[in-house]
Amino acid sequence: MTKRLFQSPKGIKDILPDQQPHWQFVEKKIHRIGQLYGYEKLELPVFEETALFQRGVGEGTDIVEKEMYTFKDKSGTSVTLRPEFTAGVVRAYLQHGLSNLPSPVKIWSLGPVFRYERPQAGRFRQHSQFNVEALGEQDPALDFEIMSIAYHLFEDLGFRKIHFQINSIGCPMCRPNYLRALIDYYQPIQAKICRECQKRLKKNPLRLLDCKNPLCRSPIEKAPPSVHFLCKECEIHFETLKTYLDRLKRPYTQNHRLVRGLDYYTKTVFEVWVEGIGAQNAVCGGGRYDGLAEALGGPPTPGVGFASGLERIILTLKEQKVEIPEPVRPNVYFAFQGDDAKNKVVEFLSILRKHNIEAIMGFGSRSLKSQLREANRRNIQFVIILGENEMAQKKVLIKTMEGGVQESVSWDGLIPFFEKRIGSS
Ligand SMILES: [Zn+2]
Ligand SMILES: [Zn+2]
Repeated sequence: MTKRLFQSPKGIKDILPDQQPHWQFVEKKIHRIGQLYGYEKLELPVFEETALFQRGVGEGTDIVEKEMYTFKDKSGTSVTLRPEFTAGVVRAYLQHGLSNLPSPVKIWSLGPVFRYERPQAGRFRQHSQFNVEALGEQDPALDFEIMSIAYHLFEDLGFRKIHFQINSIGCPMCRPNYLRALIDYYQPIQAKICRECQKRLKKNPLRLLDCKNPLCRSPIEKAPPSVHFLCKECEIHFETLKTYLDRLKRPYTQNHRLVRGLDYYTKTVFEVWVEGIGAQNAVCGGGRYDGLAEALGGPPTPGVGFASGLERIILTLKEQKVEIPEPVRPNVYFAFQGDDAKNKVVEFLSILRKHNIEAIMGFGSRSLKSQLREANRRNIQFVIILGENEMAQKKVLIKTMEGGVQESVSWDGLIPFFEKRIGSS
């Protein structure tokens, strides 16, 4: 057998310790936002029955057609690593009778999602998603609340130029009229659009509007917008949502290219764009899905939500040069000379940590000099030295690395010393 070093799978990356301050910064904000808006956390399994996503994300979407990690388990059941959260949230809502809770049921989740995409900058086959859903209400004020959570989070993270793109794609009452108008518009110019779009025209005409092929740019611009075809109810919903955005002075642009090409997506669709390097950068997407619960076999249950990728958020934090708080590091390094001292250090360390003082020690049988070098590399504030002399006198030598002051402190005085110095600094 040849020896080889394993690598992480293609398109999957490790999040190393030096990245953690950014991740913790974002995760802390997410927890706080959840509390502020009265949303509770829901933990979902990483994989579900494949049929849930086929129905809940939709056949005919890129996710279901090309991007899912699907495999058979040992019983022959087809399972899929979750490519998104919403289907699982609604599945859990129906399965556990959460509709009996006060309405709306407000949920957030955080964790990895999996998509088999071509690896490229900022896109990973496993990435982390922050997902928010509110189930049980049709009120446009709830759409606004969902959008506000995203806005508030990005504002709190220090993002600049936060801006909504919004659209309404109507409901099963009014959308057929719109789709007919869209097909009537596209049919005569079929030869001028891309191959993929020629297929969409037959299979999923709404998706014609979010084609990124330059060939399709000009036809999209001239296409009829869905907002011209809304029924009364959808129109009032959209207008009311906009009055909330206006009242709170949230910048938004009506973007008729914004669509989600599935039947159970209804009314509101939105994205949040922020300033990035070069082009505008979508950091979040969401909308209303009043038909999803029924598509999953449940009673009619309106819902609205969004998802935002943490890798994208962290990339944006770096692009916008947002300052991240320094991570908590050990303040104290315990160095020793000889086995007796080492035994004592093991004991002292346990006491220091019990007193909430971040402390570490040197391991192995390194010289005192090499231990001090290590403390230096780790940027430690205080080094405690327990040598043979100090053992005999039941004392330690405490060296403040910045400034190089040394103090002799009795064993009993050790904790008071740090409680005073670290507590006040
Ligand atoms: Zn409608
Ligand atoms: Zn196209």
